[in-house]
Amino acid sequence: MAEVVVSEAISGPAMDSLKAEFDVLSIPSLWQDEDALRSAMKDAKAIIVRNQTQVSAALIESSSQLQVVARAGAGLDNVDTAAASRRGVVVTYAPRENSLAVAELTMGFLLNLARDIPSAHIDTRAGNWNRTHFVGTELSGKILGLVGFGRIGQLVAKRAVAFGMSIVAYDKFLPNDVPLVDQLGVKMLEFEEVLKLSDFVSCHVPLVAETHHLFSHHQFSQMKDSACFLNTSRGEVVDERALYEALSIGGLRGAAVDVREIEPPEPGGLADLTNVIVTPHIGAFSHEAQMRVVDAVCHDVRSVLRGEQPRNPFVSK
Ligand code: NAD
Repeated sequence: MAEVVVSEAISGPAMDSLKAEFDVLSIPSLWQDEDALRSAMKDAKAIIVRNQTQVSAALIESSSQLQVVARAGAGLDNVDTAAASRRGVVVTYAPRENSLAVAELTMGFLLNLARDIPSAHIDTRAGNWNRTHFVGTELSGKILGLVGFGRIGQLVAKRAVAFGMSIVAYDKFLPNDVPLVDQLGVKMLEFEEVLKLSDFVSCHVPLVAETHHLFSHHQFSQMKDSACFLNTSRGEVVDERALYEALSIGGLRGAAVDVREIEPPEPGGLADLTNVIVTPHIGAFSHEAQMRVVDAVCHDVRSVLRGEQPRNPFVSK
């Protein structure tokens, strides 16, 4: 029986070193087979997952030797942290290691939405040369609304300011003393004010009960018809049907979404709209970020199994 179970595609030099030290069972599709996962976990001391494996209370409770759950990424919405804590199982993750990759994808979305680069690309590949069809807007002078001003929101703000944007933000739990707020001249406002003022609204909150469908019909109706909406956080934060309707009736100019309510989504829906950019949850997928993430979780699994302190334990607030 393996000591460490890896139930999704996770590889790299750090994983190779972990395999040299421990008995590791690594099956990228294991998350899809609940019975096989349960059986592999029976005597395992550690599990390493991305965001597909549901590390439920039942799975944690049926794993009698489990010491550590390591989530190769930032959000912990697929790990029952309360159940882990009840069983004395350490949860570690990689809260900072992929933030830059997500922030850079967000900047890519902003530029692509502003100039409609995807449509121009498709049209030009089709053999056309329609220069005047693709008159976009500039980011400079526009207002970027950030909903969630944590690690990723702040990295986006720094980059957007360099493009000449001004930043308004809403964050329910941000401490008062974040120096970047003054440094960048960020206006911290109420949620509704951010929605009403912004030319682009970008979502960077975690998925928790309170943020489920944080963006629905009412919120999209508050936004300018000329505004664009970006989501690189979690799909369930957005009522996708409401977003689809807002985009279809001209209530929003465009949207870019990396994450979906159901992943992978059914064909059609948002992906059928020409004013929407869709990507398959690639926010964290830069080579550099993946290296950092895999290094971080392998380091922490090794630490816990050796009886040492992990670097990134999840601590509930
Ligand atoms: P973070 O914890 O640093 O920041 C999140 C911010 O949201 C915090 O400042 C928090 O106070 C705020 N917040 C929480 N609940 C809120 C609410 N109800 N209303 C307003 N603000 C609220 O997290 P982060 O590193 O910036 O990451 C944000 C999210 O991005 C993650 O939770 C994760 O779901 C997502 N993410 C996605 C990818 C991807 O591949 N697309 C990769 C990494 C992270």
